[in-house]
Amino acid sequence: MKLRALAIALLLSTCAQAAEPLSPIRRLEFAPLPDGRQVLAVDLHTHSVFSDGEVWPSIRVQEAQRDGLYGYAPTEHLEYQPHLADIPHKDRNRSFEIATQEVTDPYHSPRVPGEPLVVINGAEITREMPPGHCNAVFLADANKLLKKDPMDAFREAKRQGAFTFWNHPYWSDQTPDGVARLTPMHEKLIADGLLQGIEVANMVDVSPEAFRIAEQKNLTILGTSDVHGLLDWEAGLNAGGHRTATLVLARERSTPAVREALFKGDTVAVYKDTYVGLTRNVEPLLRSVLHVEAAPYDPETTLVPVTLRNTGALHITLQEIGPEGFYDGPAVIRVPAHGSVVLRVRDVADPAKLSLRFRVLSSMVGPDAMLEMAFGPGLAASK
Ligand SMILES: [Zn+2]
Ligand SMILES: [Zn+2]
Repeated sequence: MKLRALAIALLLSTCAQAAEPLSPIRRLEFAPLPDGRQVLAVDLHTHSVFSDGEVWPSIRVQEAQRDGLYGYAPTEHLEYQPHLADIPHKDRNRSFEIATQEVTDPYHSPRVPGEPLVVINGAEITREMPPGHCNAVFLADANKLLKKDPMDAFREAKRQGAFTFWNHPYWSDQTPDGVARLTPMHEKLIADGLLQGIEVANMVDVSPEAFRIAEQKNLTILGTSDVHGLLDWEAGLNAGGHRTATLVLARERSTPAVREALFKGDTVAVYKDTYVGLTRNVEPLLRSVLHVEAAPYDPETTLVPVTLRNTGALHITLQEIGPEGFYDGPAVIRVPAHGSVVLRVRDVADPAKLSLRFRVLSSMVGPDAMLEMAFGPGLAASK
């Protein structure tokens, strides 16, 4: 009996792999929030051969289309162009122009149904620490940021209406202990309104100290891929991963609304199946994607079946922390993306008063804090 069940399970998992060889969670698409805001995924930090990346900009476009992004920004290093001997160019907007052509040219682009991907012009101000590396996005002309004094580059970005953020402030190449720290130059950039955001997560790393700086200085929390090679490899898509990116909670599906939400700090970074951001942003998003429904008692028992449903694009890991306990599940539960699990709560005195409490292990709402959520009493019956 057990062997037969095992054989069926193996067969099912083999079929599932054959049908969907790529990561089921690569597409970062979410339904709107109950308050009507759109949840739009953007990646505001990417490279191509026009700086130190290893692919042509059109590949970045196709990757972003496959990932269901609303938009992405080519952000080539302004001051570091190692491929210049092979790809001579003087125009720091060239990567953006080629990507824009790829999105709009039906001959070049593998069309994706629906609206075209939005390409946002950006650049990476690439200096020693301080200030280290910073991205400016929504630029009109990246060439004008080529300045001797880094402060002048930031001032020019502001003049162009850019949104500017501090990249990988904990990067071990520039910060050997891996701990993000503010310097007087960063304090001045923030005080002068020249720096509005901070990467708390890059493709492979995440920083509690960067989160603390975001809280202390009211900087927008960002996650970016900073991809240089093939995204599939760097993000581990074939191993079931997704790119690090930022979900923007925007009042409508438009680029001005995305820009406005970035300045307001209405973002959630997604990093290795984890929602990273302020509680005011992560909680409504999780309320929107995680649903808990209770059914009537199992016959002749006081066990209540409960369905945990995840309509979001990332798997969610929960720890049950309430007084109730599950009869047939561990305290740590994984609810797959676009899927559900059914567990029974034991010894329920009154199903109408049943409530459940969870710690969302796949969340980061502070330097060392996870979101806690309560559901019920009055959990809707399963349909
Ligand atoms: Zn960098
Ligand atoms: Zn970079």
